[in-house]
Amino acid sequence: MRTDADVVVVGAGIIGLAAARALRLRHPGVRVVNLDKEDSIGSHQTGHNSGVIHSGVYYRPGSLKATLVASGRSELIRLCQEHGLPLDRCGKIIVATRESELPRLHDLSRRAEANGVRAELIDREAMRRIEPHVEGHRALHVPDAAIVDFGEVARHLAAELVAADCEVRLGSPVRAIERDGDQVVVSGEFGELRAQAAVNCAGLHSDVIARSSGLSPSTRIIAFRGEYHELRPASRHLVNHLVYPVPDPQFPFLGVHFTRMTDGAIHAGPNAVLALAREGYRWRAIDPAELAGLARSPALRALARRHWRTGSGEVVRSLSKAAMVRALRRLVPELTTRDLIRCGSGVRAQAVAPDGTLLDDFVIERDGPVVHVLNAPSPAATASLAIGRHIADLVPLPAR
Ligand SMILES: Cc1cc2nc3c(=O)[nH]c(=O)nc-3n(C[C@H](O)[C@H](O)[C@H](O)COP(=O)(O)OP(=O)(O)OC[C@H]3O[C@@H](n4cnc5c(N)ncnc54)[C@H](O)[C@@H]3O)c2cc1C
Repeated sequence: MRTDADVVVVGAGIIGLAAARALRLRHPGVRVVNLDKEDSIGSHQTGHNSGVIHSGVYYRPGSLKATLVASGRSELIRLCQEHGLPLDRCGKIIVATRESELPRLHDLSRRAEANGVRAELIDREAMRRIEPHVEGHRALHVPDAAIVDFGEVARHLAAELVAADCEVRLGSPVRAIERDGDQVVVSGEFGELRAQAAVNCAGLHSDVIARSSGLSPSTRIIAFRGEYHELRPASRHLVNHLVYPVPDPQFPFLGVHFTRMTDGAIHAGPNAVLALAREGYRWRAIDPAELAGLARSPALRALARRHWRTGSGEVVRSLSKAAMVRALRRLVPELTTRDLIRCGSGVRAQAVAPDGTLLDDFVIERDGPVVHVLNAPSPAATASLAIGRHIADLVPLPAR
């Protein structure tokens, strides 16, 4: 039967767009259509994040994260340089603020080496030369960390695709991806699109779209809001670049940190609180159906049992600016509540296993003609161009 496209990609976040780009480069002339439910590019994770091109320190050697960040980050830097997209290779420090964190800082240094990342353990004096207002025992200096505007990158990728005769259709919510013989039918209020293959890059809704196609992923997406504060312009001298704590190895989030953005603002955060809706950008955003699903979910109960202490700390820091400032003062002791103003949030799509394990690595699975991106948390934006190629390798298209 005639098809409307060769591949339909659900989601025009940075991963869906990078997948479409890689398909077009791999199969010149391929007809790709990206569908997104929102009216603008980068409305969710891609447009609401810290904007850091991670260098690959944290990830388990051999994991998809470690492999895809290594190649994706340099490709992304090249893309930004070639097309004049905002980019600053400012470097970062990871700071041990307590002596008890020193062994983990040393572990991170060894991991950086195993992942081929340039990183140097520096003493307090060297650290203070880079960040004069930061306090700590020792730090790991990672000179190759950089900042970018991932929303801008995504808009650039979309424009490239349109210029190459691919389609990016906004305002097109997808309800289901179904199989019909050896073709797929992607449907929604816009009607139906028939294609040879489909890719599910629906971020916060990727498990729902996967189930619509008949796949029963054992994981479910749980949405974690990350709230940001911003240093008042008069307090920006407190932080020069990127300042991170030593992360808790039990938790896939990096802990509240300071990030310089490409527009010069300094963000502090994000924390990690359970969102009460998939797109719960504030406490008031509550989706009763999602809440009922969470209440029934063994994954959430198991997660709450494992992480209740960390989780309650995150909630306190969300509700109380003073508590957030106390956490940040471990890195910058001079900070006061007057230095910070609230400035928005992002919501992470985090896959959680039935036993409450927060999946650390990227999860990308092929089910016949459909490829599903089931877990693409940070640093997926950094690795996006490499993830796109990984997806293109999996999409079953005959060579032309
Ligand atoms: C607070 C925060 C900080 C982060 N910091 C960093 C960082 O510094 N560095 C880094 O590398 N990564 C970071 N990340 C992670 C990074 O932002 C994500 O990994 C990445 O953006 C994921 O891209 P995506 O395309 O999968 O998801 P998204 O950007 O969420 O895109 C998914 C798209 O699918 C669309 N969609 C969903 N359902 C449907 C449907 N039914 N029909 C049609 N369209 C649909 C949505 O509208 C959306 O546009 C951070 C994330 C957050 C939330």
